[in-house]
Amino acid sequence: VDLLIDAHCHTVVAGDLDEAAFAQGLTEADRPAPTGVSYVDSQLGLAVRRWCGPVLGLPAHAQLPEYLARRAELGWRAASAALMRAAGLATLLVDTGLGGASLDDLGGFAGAPVREVVRLEQVAESLAGVEAAGFADAYREALAARVAGAVAVKSILAYRHGLGIPAERPSPAEVQRAAGAWLGAAGATRLTDPVLLRFVLWEGVDTGLPLQLHTGSGDRDLALRNADPALLQPFLAAVEPTGAPVVLLHCYPYHRQAGWLAAVYPNVYVDLGLTLNHAGTGVLAEFFELAPFGKLMFSTDAYGLPELYRTGAAQFRHAFGRLRDAWLADGALSTVDADRIAGMVGAGNARRVYDL
Ligand SMILES: [Zn+2]
Repeated sequence: VDLLIDAHCHTVVAGDLDEAAFAQGLTEADRPAPTGVSYVDSQLGLAVRRWCGPVLGLPAHAQLPEYLARRAELGWRAASAALMRAAGLATLLVDTGLGGASLDDLGGFAGAPVREVVRLEQVAESLAGVEAAGFADAYREALAARVAGAVAVKSILAYRHGLGIPAERPSPAEVQRAAGAWLGAAGATRLTDPVLLRFVLWEGVDTGLPLQLHTGSGDRDLALRNADPALLQPFLAAVEPTGAPVVLLHCYPYHRQAGWLAAVYPNVYVDLGLTLNHAGTGVLAEFFELAPFGKLMFSTDAYGLPELYRTGAAQFRHAFGRLRDAWLADGALSTVDADRIAGMVGAGNARRVYDL
């Protein structure tokens, strides 16, 4: 695979990191590791030591203190640029819902164009001075302004409510009632009302842009059992006639459910991000089970540490190479097919679905 399109990622921390902050960037945990445990001794920690040391001029598997000393010597800007350049990315689709370095900086580090993905819930949370009766129109107007130039919208419904929602669009009266309760609650900023979450989801569908949905594992703010993408089935069926693509992000450990949904719903796609970094390379073969290959899209889901762009891309290239070798040895496909499939999953599918 030549250059990859990173179809789902976030920005990096703008600053130097000490060892504790670096280790925390390798885990979805929000607590320090307990005595006797290190977040560096994990699939992701090994991947960072394997793939990132050589980018910064160290041997592979150099110990972390040595790696961090080298990183500090370079400074976060030079280290970010070296690591992101080494990822070999053609374009980055960045969810701007989490803070950090600017998109200009990020594109400069990567040496590649950066396109924005707009978080639907955040657009509601940024509305100011709105009355319940005007909420729906104000949201629509704000979203239209935010998606100008964006390539997709994203929802974190899984975090805010869970994916088991009624399929239908809520009525204007329901939206107004729910908006009144939400706007009236003192200090209410975090959107968790299930009617309003459904409303913003459908407004996202109406933009015609691909809709990215967080599914599967994440940090512990999430109820994992409510993040199974199979819970979305009624909604996916309701969206199908609109033609808007729905991209299931992360998916693990429900990537097999996601693969089935992608197989049977023409509008459903599966993103590979997060999993290869956190769960190791073996799992890639499982993504290639049920989903048609035209439905799978590479991403790093990198966030915070620029190392995660490098590891996400390197793990994918390496894991796909191993799969390819095994398939070829087995006579399952030709090298022509193998190269074509690598090109589809690494870049072509994202280019088509996100209209890049
Ligand atoms: Zn993400």
